[in-house]
Amino acid sequence: MSESEVPPEEFISAAELEKYGYCPLSWWYSREGADEADKARLDEGVRDHKEYESQLKLINEYEGASKEAEATVAIFSIVATAIAVIALIISIYQTVEWSYAAIALALFWLLAAALFLTFSLKYTDRALKARRTSGVSHGQILDVGAAADTGDGIMESKQYGLRGLPDVVLRVDDELIPVEVKTGRVPRGPLFSHILQLAAYCMLIEEHQGRPPPYGILQYGKHTRHEIDYDDELKWTLVNKLMEMRQTIRTGNAHRNHRRPGKCASCSRREGCSERLA
Ligand code: SF4
Repeated sequence: MSESEVPPEEFISAAELEKYGYCPLSWWYSREGADEADKARLDEGVRDHKEYESQLKLINEYEGASKEAEATVAIFSIVATAIAVIALIISIYQTVEWSYAAIALALFWLLAAALFLTFSLKYTDRALKARRTSGVSHGQILDVGAAADTGDGIMESKQYGLRGLPDVVLRVDDELIPVEVKTGRVPRGPLFSHILQLAAYCMLIEEHQGRPPPYGILQYGKHTRHEIDYDDELKWTLVNKLMEMRQTIRTGNAHRNHRRPGKCASCSRREGCSERLA
């Protein structure tokens, strides 16, 4: 698929992929126009994500402060050791009084090192607590906006006509890993619609960094995480869904693709839906 094959009006967002994965008709209705319930849900989602983002910022702040304190401990300890060695040399070759002064100075530096060690431990403890609260147990948390390709802070794949920005991007073993955070009810396993959305973020990161991330993370609430392999099969599924969606945009021919009354029962579009099952 070349860049010229995807006109701007046919660009699809990762969030749209999630809707399409739930029910193509629901996605179509939302594309046609958002209703009040949609807007309220969107506002709620934005609030949740902002709160989550501030938790993640705290982790970065605490870990940064802890590292700075650690570096200061190392410098102060080295200086204290050097002064102690000088004190020893002075005691051998000069007067003992001068060596006492040098030892006192070394102790002062050692005391300062101990003080910074307590700072470091305090910030490490806070960072660990913030990680536990947010559920992000490992990986360096990157500034998500920094991964954006466009001025409005969004990642974009011109090749696939795809847009979006993950909730979180982690750096794990030199790989960029997208994280999609879902608040609300925790399902028994990862949902197809969420996997599709995460795959879109993996594809955006693949284009951004020039190599595919090995996996993405779906996080439900604070404690449930699923690592989803970004393999050829998932990429193929995603590319096919994008083609299906683009076809629907061109024809306007959208239909329900499931037989699950439960989905319709929880669907925000059920009131005006001509194909609903419940
Ligand atoms: S009510 Fe059912 S068929 Fe209609 S949009 Fe919702 S999920 Fe799809």
